[in-house]
Amino acid sequence: MGRGDVQEGPHHLCRWESYPTAPPIVPGPGEAPPSIWVGPKPELTTMALVEIKCETCGRTAFKQKGSVNRARKIGAPLYCGRACAGIARRRFKTPEQKKEEKRLYDIEYRRRNRDRIRAKKAEYFKRTYDPAAAAVERKKRMARHVEYCRRPEYRQYKKAYDRQYRAKRFYGGLWEAYLLTLDIRNEVLRQRTDYEIRLENGTLNKRSQRRRAYERTHSKKPEIGPMGDITRGQRR
Ligand SMILES: [Zn+2]
Repeated sequence: MGRGDVQEGPHHLCRWESYPTAPPIVPGPGEAPPSIWVGPKPELTTMALVEIKCETCGRTAFKQKGSVNRARKIGAPLYCGRACAGIARRRFKTPEQKKEEKRLYDIEYRRRNRDRIRAKKAEYFKRTYDPAAAAVERKKRMARHVEYCRRPEYRQYKKAYDRQYRAKRFYGGLWEAYLLTLDIRNEVLRQRTDYEIRLENGTLNKRSQRRRAYERTHSKKPEIGPMGDITRGQRR
C-alpha cells in the first residue's frame, strides 16, 4: 500500500448483497488462522484493502489489493460482490430464445457426434432388448401398422423396394443389369403385344411349326393334304 486509495477499515457491503454470509471463522487463542480462505473475511487476512467501484451498482466496496491488481492487469471488471458479478453475467435472453439456441446447438452436437451416439444407442438396445416384451409392444401397434401399410404411397414404396430386394437375391452383383433388362422388356411390350412381335418375326407358333415339320420328315404315316390321300390314290 502507499497511495491514498488504499484503505484499511471496516468491510463495506454493497446493498445488493442481501444473501446471508457464513459466520466468520475466528481462531481460538494461540491457534493459527485457517490456511484456506473461504470467503470475504478481511479481518483474518493481512492483505491491504482497496476501494473499488462496482461495475454493476456503482457503489464502492473494499477488496483485497492483490485481487484488484490482478483484475486490473487483465482488464477484468470489478464488482462489490457475488450478486453484482452474477447480474453482470446475465444475457437477458427470453426463454424462447434460450430454447431455440439449445435446439440449434443440439442439432449441431448430434451431427458432430453421430457415430458415437449411434454406437452407444446400439449398445444400449442390445443390452436391454427383451424379445417377449417387444412382441407385446408390437402387438399394441398392429392395427395402426396395418393401416400404415395400406396407404397407396407405402404400397408404391414397398413395390419398388421388393423389386430391388428380389433382384439382389436372385442376381447378386448383376441386379442392376437384371432390372434394366426387365424395364426394356416391359417398355417393348407396352408398345406392341407379344403376338404382333412374333408375327412380324415369323416366330408365331414356332414350336408347333417345328414339331409338324419334324413329323412330316420322320413319320411313316401318310400325309393327307387338300388333294386327298396321295398314297391311296397311287394304290388305286
Ligand atoms: Zn455492486
